[in-house]
Amino acid sequence: MDAGQPIHPREPGLNPAGDPPAASAGASQPGASLDHGSWITTLQQALQLEVERGFENLQGRRERFSLFLERQCRQPPDDLIRRLPEAAPALIALAERFARYDALPLAQRQSLLRRSRERLHSLRQSLDPPRPPGPPRLKLAPQTAASNGGPSGARRMASPIQPDTPLAEVPGIGPKTATRLAGLGLLLARDLLRHYPRDYLDYANLVRIRELVPGSTATIVATVQRSHAFASPRNPRLVILELQLHDITGRLRLSKFFAGRRFSSPGWLKAQQRQFPPGCSVAASGLVRQTPYGPTLQDPLLEVLDSPNTPVRSRQIGRLVPVYALTEGLGAERLRQAIQTVLTAAAHWGDPLPADLRRQEGLKDRATAWRGLHDPADRDDLRASRHRLVFDEFLLLQLSLLQRRAQLARRPARPLRLPRGQSSLMASFLELLPFQLTEAQRRVLADIQADLEQEQPMARLLQGDVGSGKTVVAIAALLVAIEAGCQGALMAPTEVLAEQHARKLGEWLSQLHVSTALLTGSTPAGRRRQLLQDLANGQLQLLVGTHALLEDPVAFARLGLVVVDEQHRFGVRQRDRLMGKGLQPHLLTMTATPIPRTLALSVHGDLEVSQIDGLPPGRTPIRTRLLRGGQRQEAYELIRAEVALGQRAYVVLPLVEESENLDLRSAVTVHQQLQEEIFPDLRVGLLHGRMPSPRKQEAINAFASGHCDVLVSTTVVEVGVDVPEASVMVIEHAERFGLAQLHQLRGRVGRGAAASHCLLINDGKAGQAQQRLELLVRSSDGFEIAEMDLQLRGPGQVLGTRQSGLPDLALASLSDDGDVLEQARSLAKRLLELDPDLEGHPGLRQALLEQRQRQVEAGSLN
Ligand code: ADP
Ligand code: MG
Repeated sequence: MDAGQPIHPREPGLNPAGDPPAASAGASQPGASLDHGSWITTLQQALQLEVERGFENLQGRRERFSLFLERQCRQPPDDLIRRLPEAAPALIALAERFARYDALPLAQRQSLLRRSRERLHSLRQSLDPPRPPGPPRLKLAPQTAASNGGPSGARRMASPIQPDTPLAEVPGIGPKTATRLAGLGLLLARDLLRHYPRDYLDYANLVRIRELVPGSTATIVATVQRSHAFASPRNPRLVILELQLHDITGRLRLSKFFAGRRFSSPGWLKAQQRQFPPGCSVAASGLVRQTPYGPTLQDPLLEVLDSPNTPVRSRQIGRLVPVYALTEGLGAERLRQAIQTVLTAAAHWGDPLPADLRRQEGLKDRATAWRGLHDPADRDDLRASRHRLVFDEFLLLQLSLLQRRAQLARRPARPLRLPRGQSSLMASFLELLPFQLTEAQRRVLADIQADLEQEQPMARLLQGDVGSGKTVVAIAALLVAIEAGCQGALMAPTEVLAEQHARKLGEWLSQLHVSTALLTGSTPAGRRRQLLQDLANGQLQLLVGTHALLEDPVAFARLGLVVVDEQHRFGVRQRDRLMGKGLQPHLLTMTATPIPRTLALSVHGDLEVSQIDGLPPGRTPIRTRLLRGGQRQEAYELIRAEVALGQRAYVVLPLVEESENLDLRSAVTVHQQLQEEIFPDLRVGLLHGRMPSPRKQEAINAFASGHCDVLVSTTVVEVGVDVPEASVMVIEHAERFGLAQLHQLRGRVGRGAAASHCLLINDGKAGQAQQRLELLVRSSDGFEIAEMDLQLRGPGQVLGTRQSGLPDLALASLSDDGDVLEQARSLAKRLLELDPDLEGHPGLRQALLEQRQRQVEAGSLN
């Protein structure tokens, strides 16, 4: 930054060196002199970068990430504070958290960053509410009160409600309600329709308290006798809301639990109690459970029907009544009324999907579907309505992915054709291997080769279980590129993995006289300079590295093919970065975390997907067992026995250090305990993500070369560490991990000829975790496991928190709506084939534009 940059006069103490890690041009001044828009963007960029770099408190050009954020939050831009003075305390609170960032464990860093992004996002929303793009739409003639059947009846002769009418201007919604709705992120009329119900109370199945049957799901309507909200005496973060209810047939006690600190404030407790005053009638729905005190509803869905002593409104009886996410001061009935008003107007909004397409696909029109979702006549109506709206979500997603792919394809890549008859590098490589490629490997390789010969850049995702032999295929492909006179790049998500790849490649490729080099964040400057020079003049044929490869000074002479290992850790953003460097190489991405097809299509719908199914022959299957904490001794005996046979063992833990909040065994503690008490005669190593890179490498080398028998590690071993002599993996607190991640971890053993073991120690409460973990004992099929993981944990968890580009689907479920996704994808393909720019479908075109706009606004949140 220039020393001469102006400093805001009111901030004499400001450090002029303020420099965001994102280092975006012109955005590096201290907060007070920026306008709020660029200030928020700068902070969002910094947060994004910190997330991408793994929460390691990034060193910017001038200062560390946490210091930068702390300073910025203490000195937000003047215009922000002028317009939103109430934001100041929250920003100061954030500043204080960032001041302690270095001392926070990873999980708390993650949650701090999440909160900061939410805060910035809502700041932006309050300051600059999103406006839809495009020309103003044709206004319809004003409706009369008679034609507006909504309960609030448009008495004013206002202009009709359009999708982009601000909610404050909707008749029947006053400024106060509009403010409350804004608190839910609902600003425009169309937002309200997309505020989908969380659930439905089934008043069609209404029963009396005496008729409740344990094991069934039921809804009751009853009167509140007493309500009490209090923090659990044993766990101050757990809040319990207790309701005593009665109807003419009996009484019932209900408890609802809220976990998390924000619920335990006195204000929140009071508000809860106020929400359920004695005498008011509530509907409660849930699974009936028998207790010593009589029946109760487990985790009930509650809804206040009306104020005390007014009868239940007959409109609801015998119907499915939607239940919404509410905010304090906004009652369910008020929200429903507002939605009714907008629903009525929406009948005139038109449908992005023309009638003939709707008929052909068997879909309701959009306005009817909205009504069916917010006010279903019955279950069938609800199902069909939901189908239509889920279809819309998937259709827009697929249209944008497929259009993106078409755009990429329009920029030509170098076709990598081999002159026929020339001795092939790839063939000599395959001859070097001590094994034959499997059928699946050969098939995938043929697909890739065919892609590489095209002028269209390849964009292919290779999925294959851990150990299925993807790397070999990737190397073969890289050799094709090199033989065609181009350079290749192989990117790995971690330094450890990059080094491992480089070592393996070095062994094989030196025999083929192909030059390779490794470039990571810790490559010394001198070496790096030389390497970049060789790369730029074309002497270096293959570069292996981490995402340092994407950094600016790296320039290839003739980059032909990029292979990205463990794609899900790179994400769309990095892919774009490569393209942004003006490179249009062929791209092969690989993942060993097979993701279910629905998820793959939604996240990687712009890629072709190949699969290596099955493992190479000769592997002994891994024996997996599930142990309780009390059986830990058995695990230790097995480790001892295997080490006596010359094998090695991993012990994996979820945390590096003890945490005050979680009662978990940590890597550091367990390492010490194993070395000192359990295996004083063995060599026990330690590996975790907070160790500096060279120490990590030392630990892995010691384990790989047999100088260490037992390696205590966090999940850093998850990705790709390859030690064939390791035959035991013990995973502590297995209940804390996702299934797919456990499967991935388990793949670290069973890489040699010896029979291998995986012992999962479940320290949690029995029940669901146990059932979940039993799937791993039963199955060794990564796809089955991933499918299950998706159902149990949802797509965000399956892809990992670092994944960017997860589509924003409000209604669609990737685990349940696979059929609708296929239907939408197939229509999207047909549409784009005939009409690539959707000229003939202005409704869809507009909907896509609006969606992109929303994504840009929310973009820095991902
Ligand atoms: P992935 O990257 O898919 O996890 P790797 O490519 O690392 O798997 O392969 C795992 C191990 O299997 C490596 O040691 C590799 O040399 C070996 N391997 C790969 N393909 C075959 C094959 N067709 N037959 C036997 N062994 C193979
Ligand atoms: Mg691999």
